[in-house]
Amino acid sequence: MLRKKLIAGNWKMNGLVREGTELAAAVAAGVKSESLNDKCDFLVCPPFTLLSIVGEALKGSGVALGAQDAHFAEKGAHTGDVSPVMLKDIGCSYVILGHSERRADHGETSALVAKKAAAAYKSGLKAVICIGETLAEREAGKTLDVCVAQIEESVPAEADADNTVVAYEPVWAIGTGKTPTPADVEEVHAAVRNALAQKLGQDIADKIRILYGGSVKPGNAKDFLSLADVDGALIGGASLKAEDFLNIARAVC
Ligand code: PEP
Repeated sequence: MLRKKLIAGNWKMNGLVREGTELAAAVAAGVKSESLNDKCDFLVCPPFTLLSIVGEALKGSGVALGAQDAHFAEKGAHTGDVSPVMLKDIGCSYVILGHSERRADHGETSALVAKKAAAAYKSGLKAVICIGETLAEREAGKTLDVCVAQIEESVPAEADADNTVVAYEPVWAIGTGKTPTPADVEEVHAAVRNALAQKLGQDIADKIRILYGGSVKPGNAKDFLSLADVDGALIGGASLKAEDFLNIARAVC
């Protein structure tokens, strides 16, 4: 099953106008000049404030634009929120949903993530649905159970390979420099694909991209992205330096 790898950057709450514009321009130039998107797809997810300006900088580069969250409603009385229709309107094609930082900081549940994903599809956005276990869950031997339950509850029935990407991100590996072993990642990704098959059917599950995220760097990217069920990476810290982001891509694309 050939799944084109997706190299995705999650800038989180980082970047002012000047640095965001420079970072996006450097990523766009690198991807374009080296034709890196012949072999991989690319996605950059800046904070809401930079979406417009980063979208401009990415034009014509083949790097897609995404947001880091969306509400489930199209519009209305939801102060501080942004709707999927608004994101589509401003040039986004993807939205990250259910990142562990949103689950932790904003109490987002898997049921809410599924509701947001279904709304994203309706607006023509693709959802990057994040799942992953905490350190306590891993130490209690519950990793597979937690991840499978999160797939069952966070992925809507309308999900398919065109509108959905899953990102497995062990919470304890995010921003810590710690990573699971490749064998651990392989085991979780296989279980996630199996859970997707139970939910959506084998054909769709075989085509959905499952990314690994959690302290991916240029030096370890190949270890994870060469595994059978790993179809790309969701990159936080290392996506804030164009050379690191591009070197991850160069290692695998
Ligand atoms: C993330 O925030 O999705 C992430 C994986 O962060 P980092 O690469 O910094 O661990």
